[in-house]
Amino acid sequence: MKKKGIAILGSTGSIGTQTLDVVRAFPSHFDVVVLTCASNATLLVAQALEFLPQAVVIINEDLLDFVRSKLSHTSIAVYAGISALEEVVQFEAIDVVLNAIVGAAGLRPTVKAIESGKDIALANKETLVVAGELVMQLASKHQVKMLPVDSEHSAIFQCLAGEEKNPIEKIYITASGGPFRGKDRSFLSSVKKEHALKHPNWVMGAKITIDSASLMNKGLEVIEAKWLFDLEVDQVDVIVHPQSIVHSLVQFQDGSMKAQLGLPDMKLPIQYALSYPNRLENNFERFNFLDYPELTFEKPDMATFRNLALAYDSLRKGGNRACVLNAANEIVVDSFLNDKISFLGMSDVIEAVLEKVNYLVRPSLDDYIESDYEARRIAREIIIK
Ligand code: NAD
Ligand code: MG
Repeated sequence: MKKKGIAILGSTGSIGTQTLDVVRAFPSHFDVVVLTCASNATLLVAQALEFLPQAVVIINEDLLDFVRSKLSHTSIAVYAGISALEEVVQFEAIDVVLNAIVGAAGLRPTVKAIESGKDIALANKETLVVAGELVMQLASKHQVKMLPVDSEHSAIFQCLAGEEKNPIEKIYITASGGPFRGKDRSFLSSVKKEHALKHPNWVMGAKITIDSASLMNKGLEVIEAKWLFDLEVDQVDVIVHPQSIVHSLVQFQDGSMKAQLGLPDMKLPIQYALSYPNRLENNFERFNFLDYPELTFEKPDMATFRNLALAYDSLRKGGNRACVLNAANEIVVDSFLNDKISFLGMSDVIEAVLEKVNYLVRPSLDDYIESDYEARRIAREIIIK
């Protein structure tokens, strides 16, 4: 069997390192062709020496010499800078590009990989939040697979296997509710990043952990699901499920519901995206019903966690709205992590930015990039005031 050639964009992050755990467990199935990261040069070098890819990319150009010197005794090509990502995803030996970059920075490399005919294993949900319509059209034009890595979307994707001809009535995306589930606005007015960074069920990168606490992550996932599964906004519902065992559900036209369950561990959706359509035997811990005698479900509180409502509004309005929402969110999350804005202040800024950036009905890729830039500029301006 020919090994699958994999490019891992964002290999030093939470998803990136777990992807390498999966690859390490199946050396006869997967071959690492490209590794990239923003600035964790030491880890990138260690990964490169272990997996011997054709090339690595370090986004921070100041670290190019360091990475080059550490890999000079190998045949690994070393690139630097954001535009190098668009070059390396085209390598002949790549079958799947696993995009685990955080933020809208993941969009251009996804687009380039699709244009080069590579299948996409997508953790970078922001790609679809910013430009879902355009990206899915491109994927269909180039006949590449969009394989979800996000656990909820992987769950839905797994439920849909064999159901290709059966229309979906509705999907339910499950949400843990994050560390502040059940709290009111007066409690949230004083929470700090230390509280928000403690997720009850998942260990993830800082940005998605804050997004999970503010429910923006669920908002982004609703948008991601709409485009991935070609649904109307009203077909995508969110249900809070604090145990994070049911990873999401599909309801078909006859009322039958299929769910995918398992312990919260991203390695499973990562593995499924890489091995699809096959399943590979592994030794991950198995779920035991008796450890979870109660699986519970509740309605999300969109009045307290306004980000989820803002995400639904943006999706309904369409055009560049979700792109603006995402860009503003990236700035407010960064500001919250740097103690420059309060937890509740994040939604206020996002709402103000949505009001200020020009509405475009059918944006091109360049329009999206321009809207993203404009939204960030306005968000920073509001925060400084
Ligand atoms: P992370 O912060 O742990 O890692 C991000 C990776 O991207 C790092 O390798 C970093 O070097 C690289 N990177 C950061 N900024 C970059 C830029 N501007 N250009 C190029 N590379 C850059 O993030 P993560 O938690 O692994 O999340 C990655 C993506 O996966 C996000 O879109 C997130 O929403 C999604 N996701 C993560 C999880 C999870 O469990 N961590 C679950 C579902 C979805
Ligand atoms: Mg998710």
